[in-house]
Amino acid sequence: MAEYDVVVIGGGPGGYVCAIRCGQLGLKVACVEGRGALGGTCLNVGCIPSKALLHASELVHEAETNFEKMGIAAKGLSVDIPKMLAYKDGVIKANTQGIEFLFKKNKVDYVKGWGEIVSASEVKVGDQSLKTKNIVIATGSEPASLPGVEVDEERVVTSTGALELTSVPKKLVVIGAGVIGLELGSVWSRLGSEVSVIEFLDEITPGQDGEVQKNFQRILKKQGMSFVLGAAVQKVEKLKTKLKLTFKKRKDDSEHTVEADVVLVATGRRPYTQGLALEAAGIETEKGMVKTDAHWRTNVSGIWAIGDVIAGPMLAHKAEDEGMAVAEEIAGKHGHVSYGVIPGVIYTAPEVASVGQTEEQLKEAGRKYKVGKFPFMANGRAKANFASEGFVKLLADAETDRILGCHVIGPAAGDLIHEVCVAMEFGASAQDLALTCHAHPTFSEAMREAALACGDGAIHA
Ligand SMILES: Cc1cc2nc3c(=O)[nH]c(=O)nc-3n(C[C@H](O)[C@H](O)[C@H](O)COP(=O)(O)OP(=O)(O)OC[C@H]3O[C@@H](n4cnc5c(N)ncnc54)[C@H](O)[C@@H]3O)c2cc1C
Repeated sequence: MAEYDVVVIGGGPGGYVCAIRCGQLGLKVACVEGRGALGGTCLNVGCIPSKALLHASELVHEAETNFEKMGIAAKGLSVDIPKMLAYKDGVIKANTQGIEFLFKKNKVDYVKGWGEIVSASEVKVGDQSLKTKNIVIATGSEPASLPGVEVDEERVVTSTGALELTSVPKKLVVIGAGVIGLELGSVWSRLGSEVSVIEFLDEITPGQDGEVQKNFQRILKKQGMSFVLGAAVQKVEKLKTKLKLTFKKRKDDSEHTVEADVVLVATGRRPYTQGLALEAAGIETEKGMVKTDAHWRTNVSGIWAIGDVIAGPMLAHKAEDEGMAVAEEIAGKHGHVSYGVIPGVIYTAPEVASVGQTEEQLKEAGRKYKVGKFPFMANGRAKANFASEGFVKLLADAETDRILGCHVIGPAAGDLIHEVCVAMEFGASAQDLALTCHAHPTFSEAMREAALACGDGAIHA
């Protein structure tokens, strides 16, 4: 019987990062993964494959709309969907195999199979029994279902099926205007689908800064997506060739139907704990999530939990941070995750990125704040790249000037936001950003200008 310091169940970004850090800290560690490949949802059916298709479809859009403006003639442009999917699969394979290499490098034992918790000191994987001092549950999440909607992953799909469509659906209806629905909706929209998004709430991307929500929706509409907000989906019926979706408008309870070739159910994700035998092991859950304290300890001594299976935003980098932190805790050090400074990014074109508080949250908290805004329209690099839609909005404390949040729609927003993350971690003021020299011509100058706008004013707007 193998004996470990730590057995991590789940090889997603939470689990594999935790296992690698355990190895680096000199702990004897195994990582159990059942899906046959490391990397979890993120590398196999989430972040990475979706970004591959976003990239490819953005290039199609670029070729169709901007090449000609720059004097580039690209005649006979065509899209081979199976080949595009093969490119995406190649990206997945390269990434998942990379984790196997990192496991070898860091002396992590990769145990293939589904793990079941026998006790705080034993994990069963098929016929194998792993004795251990600690168990880390990192089993992630799965797509949430919707009553009246039966997923077959061919015509009625979750994000997993939407990454595998072998032809471009003429009409795609997306249920849910969250990050995943909008990213995958924009992929298929750029490849030629007519895309309608049906959302229960009255705004898209719940939780985002209100001004960003409005502008983002306007931009997506301009790109060809249509939206029905405040609508509760009742059912999806499978007709011979079409799908019929019925929804009720929340404001007047009126019933409507819409036809589609493919329906994407993107109504969120729920924690995945099947087969772990949590109850038998006496591990407490809450709303399906494994319950932990502030140090990722469950109620059972020696059993920890991280990532999508616990509370908090379902994001790969949040899972990774918790993975590193819990490894440090197990090694007797101090693990830390800065939950107030976790960026969120939507990888559409333009990208949307945010960190810290929104204006709505600051108002509700009664905090006095100032806003520094700068449009990409006034950024030279963005103009040159036909990427001048959107803005940077920086929020700072009205008295101390300390940065409280930042919200960006625009080119490379997902990269730009990290400047603010670092600034916030150091407790920086807007003036600190404004006084930092930014290379010209870069998109990041928009960030500096927004910081200047929190003080005596932006230079270029
Ligand atoms: C389409 C899509 C796009 C996304 N894009 C982004 C993005 O751009 N950025 C971002 O930050 N997040 C994104 N996410 C979310 C991100 O994928 C998750 O937040 C992240 O993968 C969570 O990591 P995790 O390690 O907690 O769980 P997971 O990645 O879900 O990994 C858990 C692993 O545990 C395994 N497992 C479960 N039970 C057992 C068991 N009993 N025994 C053995 N193995 C088990 C599963 O097979 C799985 O591989 C996206 C998600 C989707 C679906």
